[in-house]
Amino acid sequence: MKFQYLGTAAAEGWPAVFCKCEHCLRAAEAGGKNIRTRSQAIINGDLLLDLPPDTYLHKLQHGLELSAVKYLLVTHCHMDHFYPQELSIRGSCYSPVMESPEMDVYCAAETKALFDRCTAGEIDEASMSALHWHILQPFETVQAGPYTVTPLPANHMGQGNQPFVYHIVDEQGVSVYYLHDSGYYFPEVWDYFKRQKPADLISLDTTNGEISYNNGYGGHMGAPDILRVVQEMREIGLADEHTRCVMNHFSHNGHLLHEELEALARPEGIEVAYDGMTLELTGRP
Ligand SMILES: [Zn+2]
Ligand SMILES: [Zn+2]
Ligand SMILES: [Zn+2]
Repeated sequence: MKFQYLGTAAAEGWPAVFCKCEHCLRAAEAGGKNIRTRSQAIINGDLLLDLPPDTYLHKLQHGLELSAVKYLLVTHCHMDHFYPQELSIRGSCYSPVMESPEMDVYCAAETKALFDRCTAGEIDEASMSALHWHILQPFETVQAGPYTVTPLPANHMGQGNQPFVYHIVDEQGVSVYYLHDSGYYFPEVWDYFKRQKPADLISLDTTNGEISYNNGYGGHMGAPDILRVVQEMREIGLADEHTRCVMNHFSHNGHLLHEELEALARPEGIEVAYDGMTLELTGRP
């Protein structure tokens, strides 16, 4: 499985769109892996995780062939994960030549409702009919082509929506957890983790950087939390020496630049994501 991080920031990006705090200025000055766009990842070029406002930028930056995407999994309807208007220029006269004209979209009912509200009056029938919607329920596994996908309920600001994190397994048995956005997982999610084989990749929400989620930021975690969570995952066997544990989804409000995050993560055997980071996951020997 080829897993590529396209964007690794929280909602406002880092440097943030409208901010000139010292951490935005430090990131801009340092450049490189400290320039983070809104969160998105792609698997094998045909499964897209989330559709942020930076999707077009990601296509340009990484030379993606987005017309080949057959499956779109949306974690939740916050703007950094789902910009529904983008789908109104998919297909029809806006993209008459595509590798995969049809696309299956997997999401919560509230995410589909947001799509309906945002695209009403703008999307045409041809674009609309090329999208095939699958409304997910927590813990109900679905098959997205070669991928077995289980939506798990995220501990994230609800605002009337059902946020999901995903467990994705490909035909070779490569097992990936994409855990964005979420605070500490619900007990029933830990019960699910305990029943699973060790993962090949676990991608963990580190929005709060140096600040623990206990300090008042709901629905996310910080690096101190992730160090503890990975330890717990190792204790229950979800992670072992073969598992790549990766911190991802960062905010200027968490303060730590890439190298500072690595200084915390690396001694614990944890990696730090950056825009464009590509992982070749080969499964277990
Ligand atoms: Zn987010
Ligand atoms: Zn800032
Ligand atoms: Zn969110």
